[in-house]
Amino acid sequence: MNLIQHFVNGKIIPGKSDRRGKVFNPAIGEQESEVILGSKSDLDNAVEVAKKAFDTWSLKPPIQRARIMFKFKELIEKNSDELTKMIVSEHGKVYEDAKGSLIRGLEVVEFTCGIPQVLKGEFTENVGTDIDSWSIRQPLGVCAGITPFNFPAMVPMWMFPMAIACGNTFVLKPSEKDPSISIKLAELFQEAGLPDGVFNVINGDKEVVDAILINKDIKAVSFVGSTPIAKYIYENAAKNEKRVQALGGAKNHCVVMPDCDLNQAVNGLMGAAYGSAGERCMAQSVAVAVGNIGDNLVKELSKKVEALKVGPGMDKKSEMGPLVTKEHLEKVKGYVDLGVKEGAKLIVDGRNLKLQGYEKGYYIGGCLFDHVKKDMRIYKEEIFGPVLSVVRAKNFEEATQLINDHEFGNGTSIYTRDGDVGRTFASKIKIGMVGINIPIPVPVAFHSFGGWKRSLFGDQHMHGIEGVRFYTKLKTITSRWPSGIRSDPEFIMPTMK
Ligand code: NAD
Repeated sequence: MNLIQHFVNGKIIPGKSDRRGKVFNPAIGEQESEVILGSKSDLDNAVEVAKKAFDTWSLKPPIQRARIMFKFKELIEKNSDELTKMIVSEHGKVYEDAKGSLIRGLEVVEFTCGIPQVLKGEFTENVGTDIDSWSIRQPLGVCAGITPFNFPAMVPMWMFPMAIACGNTFVLKPSEKDPSISIKLAELFQEAGLPDGVFNVINGDKEVVDAILINKDIKAVSFVGSTPIAKYIYENAAKNEKRVQALGGAKNHCVVMPDCDLNQAVNGLMGAAYGSAGERCMAQSVAVAVGNIGDNLVKELSKKVEALKVGPGMDKKSEMGPLVTKEHLEKVKGYVDLGVKEGAKLIVDGRNLKLQGYEKGYYIGGCLFDHVKKDMRIYKEEIFGPVLSVVRAKNFEEATQLINDHEFGNGTSIYTRDGDVGRTFASKIKIGMVGINIPIPVPVAFHSFGGWKRSLFGDQHMHGIEGVRFYTKLKTITSRWPSGIRSDPEFIMPTMK
């Protein structure tokens, strides 16, 4: 059986732990690999290596770091088919969707190719007479990333290319459910010319995460995953004096206004709710039907949900693949059972889907609920599967109130033809990423990604300029070169005369 190990100091190594995790191919429901679940000493060893590498990497001129990023970009493009297949085989999403997610990660690498430009500081001549002042951003040291299963390439690539281009070194702890691609990315980065020890991958579970949180040499932690774990990371990383950004779960609402182009809204919702089998933190899991549009919306959606082509990710005809694990499949089915018990109307029931030849795969068909109410658990909690809930709202104000009252604040969108409604929505809504007639408003690499409320703990969003700020600290220097005349001591607070 294939064994997935760690990547430390430019080499694949087994480490010291004898604990193992199982990695499945969800399309066929069979174990394909074993992953080593690292120990505290494996993590500490990787941090030691990264700390040494920081001494020289942080001094490398940004232009030289950028050249390595350019080469890394080229290698990702050259190997994109193999990388995409790795995502499909361990996560399950369909090939083109997996490729799209890889490209969104690649775009962050492209952003870092311009790192000399964004690392430029600020300079003021004569902040006082003959006194100059300038600000520079310097790297932090060893940074760590802890990532979820649903984007095994893209989410790590929100973090490590940014941190490394800014002059830091990095230790990544990928999801234990689909860890292979992180090792491959580390190999490609090394082939691009990255010095040994700058990027390291330690596979594992809670044991490695807890070791990250207490390691004194880790200066910053980036986390993406579910909200309870995000909160745990935020609190414990901060307690141990680290900089931290911890992105959590979501329940994204798509408001469908009565004046919208219904066809566009339905197609947008289909991709946003059922793409990647709903296993996206930016999936639209609630459609808020405003005014009298509800019946037509549900009628049009139900036809399309029933016609969804579910199948293995490598089959070109598949629109939606399996869920990631058997446990997750049971959890999602459990939520559909719960919705029925809570009194929501199940319009399309995907629970009994069977695929000939793939009977052991973790498949569920698309599910559609109507008349979901705000006190139901299927409305309040993140399901993370292909289950769309339609909630009816009397008017725009009621729709926005629902969204603003929800504990999560990741993404939202609105379908309307009224510019005033769209603008008011963007201005008043308490959500980090907003779409107007755009179903999944994921910001591109040169903007920044992040939610509000319990979808993000910390101050900075990921990648773009926010990422540069997170992975660097500011230093401001004030300087004077007196020309011969010595001044007397001054005992008052200096002001710039
Ligand atoms: P998860 O929280 O279970 O796991 C995320 C990471 O935390 C993994 O590396 C895992 O090994 C580690 N982990 C899990 N349990 C832990 C524990 N008790 N102690 C310490 N570490 C632990 O999340 P997941 O199931 O892998 O991913 C799905 C979740 O991620 C969803 O909630 C989704 O919304 C969220 N997500 C959010 C974003 C975002 O940008 N906000 C993006 C992608 C995914």
